[in-house]
Amino acid sequence: MSSAPATRIRDRIAALRERFDPVGISALLVTHPANVFYLSNFRGSAGMLLVTDTRATLVVDARYATAAAVLLDGPGGCPGLDLALVESSYEQTIVACVGQLDWSPGVDRLGIEVTHMTVAQHEWLTQALTASSVTLRPTSDLVEEARSVKDPDELSILRDAGRRISSVMAEALQGLRPGRSEREVAADIDRTIVRAGFDRPAFETIVAAGSNTALPHARPGRRVLEPGHLVLLDFGGALDGYCVDLTRVASLGPPDDDARAWHAAVRSAHAAALAVVRPGVAAVEVDTAARRAITERGFGHAFTHGTGHGLGIEVHEAPRIGKRREPSDALADVPLRVGMVFTVEPGVYLPSCGGIRLEDDLLVTETGYELLTDVPLDLHVV
Ligand code: ZN
Ligand code: ZN
Repeated sequence: MSSAPATRIRDRIAALRERFDPVGISALLVTHPANVFYLSNFRGSAGMLLVTDTRATLVVDARYATAAAVLLDGPGGCPGLDLALVESSYEQTIVACVGQLDWSPGVDRLGIEVTHMTVAQHEWLTQALTASSVTLRPTSDLVEEARSVKDPDELSILRDAGRRISSVMAEALQGLRPGRSEREVAADIDRTIVRAGFDRPAFETIVAAGSNTALPHARPGRRVLEPGHLVLLDFGGALDGYCVDLTRVASLGPPDDDARAWHAAVRSAHAAALAVVRPGVAAVEVDTAARRAITERGFGHAFTHGTGHGLGIEVHEAPRIGKRREPSDALADVPLRVGMVFTVEPGVYLPSCGGIRLEDDLLVTETGYELLTDVPLDLHVV
C-alpha cells in the first residue's frame, strides 16, 4: 500500500497554512479522518492533527502508536510531523498540546472543523480552554477544498484505480446469468474488486434487477435475475485510500422499447455533461447540460438526483455536480479546475418499472477532460 511522499505531505500542510489568515485562525484542529489522512498518511479510524504555523502534531491513541511511529520515522514516513500519544482522552491531549503552543496576543484562534466535531467534543474543549486565551473558531471545508484538486500522486492512483475498476466491470457484465440472485452477484463482484488489487469495495455494491433498477440506491436482495430483466451494477473500489465509482446496465435478453428509450436519454445526458467539462465552467453547468438532454427526451421528471460528485479519499466529496439548491449556492458555482476528479452519472428512474444509470469518472484537464473509466456505454445485452 503506497503513501504520499513526505515532500507532498509537507506541500499539503504548507498550502493549508496559507489559508489560516484569510479565515482568521492561527491553528487548525483537523478531526475528519479523511482530512487527517490527506495531511499525514495516517489512516486509523481515530486520530486528530493539530496544525499550527510551525508544527503539525498527530494525536493518536495506544491502538495506533506503532503504526503512527512507523509513519513518522519509518521509510517513506513524514519526519516533519510530531506525535502525541493519548493517555486519558483525545480532548485532554489536545488541550495539553494547545497549552504548549506559543499563543502570543492576537495569535489565539484555534480553528475547528464544524462538520466533523461532536457537540460533546466542542463543549469539552470550550470548557477546558476557558482558562487560556485560546478561543475556538468554526471553519468548514478548508482541507476539503484543497482535496478537490488532486496532486500528481493522487492522480496516478486514481488513473490506476479507474483502469482496474473498468476491468472489474467488464468481468461482472460477462458473468451475469439468469438464475442467480442480486446478492450472489454482488458477493462475486466484491471478491473481484479485492482480486483486482483494491483495498476494499468503496461502498456497498449495488446490484439491482428488474423493477429494482428504479431505485437509485437499491440494496442487493434475494431477487433472482430473470430473462428480460435489466440489471444495474454500481460499484467502486478504494485503492491506496482513493475511491473510484462506476455504473453500467445490462439487459438479460433483448431490451424492450422502454429500456431502449431510457438508455438513449441517459446516454445523451452523459454525452452532454462531458461536452461542457473544461476549466472555468461552473460545476452546476455540467448538471444543467445533463438535465436538459434528459428533459428533451421526455424524462426530466425521472432524473431525480444530481449529475455527479467528486471522488478521492471519500467516495462523495467536493466538487458537487448538481442543481442549484438556493439562489446563491456557492458550491454549485464552484468553477471546475484542472485536477478535479468527479463522476458523471445521469439516470432515469420510473417507479415500479425500471431505470438506467450510466456512470463514469473523469479528470478535468487543460483542454477538457480525461476519462478514468473505460467500459462501453451500450446497454450490455447478455
Ligand atoms: Zn456509483
Ligand atoms: Zn457515484
